Amino acid sequence: MAGIYIHIPFCKQRCSYCDFHFSTSYQSYRSKLIDTICEELVFRKDELNGEVINSVYFGGGTPSLLNSDELKSIQSTISANYLISSSPEITLEANPDDMSVSNLKDWRNNGINRLSVGIQSFRDNDLKWMNRAHTADHAENCVKDAQQFGFNAISVDLIYGLPSMDLSEWNNQIEKAISLNIQHISAYCLTVEQKTQLHKLVEKGEVVPGNEDHQSEQFLHLLQVLKEKGFEQYEISNFCIPGFEAVHNSSYWKGEKYIGIGPSAHSFDGTNRRWNISNNALYMKLFKEESKWYEKEELTGKDRFNELLLTGLRTKYGVNLSALQSNHSLTKDFIQKIENYANDGWMQKIEGTLLLTDEGKLRADYIASELFI
Ligand code: SF4
Repeated sequence: MAGIYIHIPFCKQRCSYCDFHFSTSYQSYRSKLIDTICEELVFRKDELNGEVINSVYFGGGTPSLLNSDELKSIQSTISANYLISSSPEITLEANPDDMSVSNLKDWRNNGINRLSVGIQSFRDNDLKWMNRAHTADHAENCVKDAQQFGFNAISVDLIYGLPSMDLSEWNNQIEKAISLNIQHISAYCLTVEQKTQLHKLVEKGEVVPGNEDHQSEQFLHLLQVLKEKGFEQYEISNFCIPGFEAVHNSSYWKGEKYIGIGPSAHSFDGTNRRWNISNNALYMKLFKEESKWYEKEELTGKDRFNELLLTGLRTKYGVNLSALQSNHSLTKDFIQKIENYANDGWMQKIEGTLLLTDEGKLRADYIASELFI
């Protein structure tokens, strides 16, 4: 089984914290870019050697800005050129302000069966501060509208750790999301990424980043509340009602194959990682000229070892020591560190698999990087 990721690099406006690849001035070339995406899909159709496609993910940018014809042309190109399973997961990332009745209808008609909704916050002040294009009213109503149109696999994105957010406010946000009867929540801590508007404001001293202790407290609170409400944490930032794990994102974490189409999209064929150029004009130009519009890297055993650690430790599946060993031998230093982390209460070893405790999850990236070869 494999997946297809389509990157739609268009956004209405620039959210202050975002470092994804997108453009806000795309109208003059949007149809040319969609055509290039369709052509790239056709050009690369044999790359997965006829593997059955179990998931298609429209990410971005803002794929909910696609009009019905654009979505239809991408979907029909996929169906005409790839072997699709009988019940694929087809996810569209949607911003609340795009979730109009006519769009919801179109998405259903175009086979979208899962929505990942970029709510981020249910408070107008936060949304304004993040320069999001929607309001708190949109955030609340869009999910109800989607449910009325029959969407029964809905994920909501939330951001915690905002400078202005205390624990009780964060609790309100979680409770509000749960009250919408959704099946999945992705919750991310606000981070200050280079080259973002937020970064500039922090540099100028106009914004003080969120307090790390408060962020940790909010993360642990999230784990506790969602667990009580029947959500399972299957990845550090992802929680679902059992049976509603994201098929597509899980394939990344399980090391399965996927093909990424569009500017900045990443692919993995089991051995090589490859990523398209993060520049819309250049992507279209190089593709047309049949020049290389991507970079490629063959993973060594050491790379695979480190990737297994980085992704596996973040999931409920953990990291299997035999799988690690099949890529690189375990060093004395590695074994000693595992023991230390177990003694610190950050890690458990269960039947040859390393799993992080909640305290360990607070430091997942640090622990993984310390264990890297
Ligand atoms: S967060 Fe989403 S909508 Fe906002 S700028 Fe980034 S990609 Fe666009």
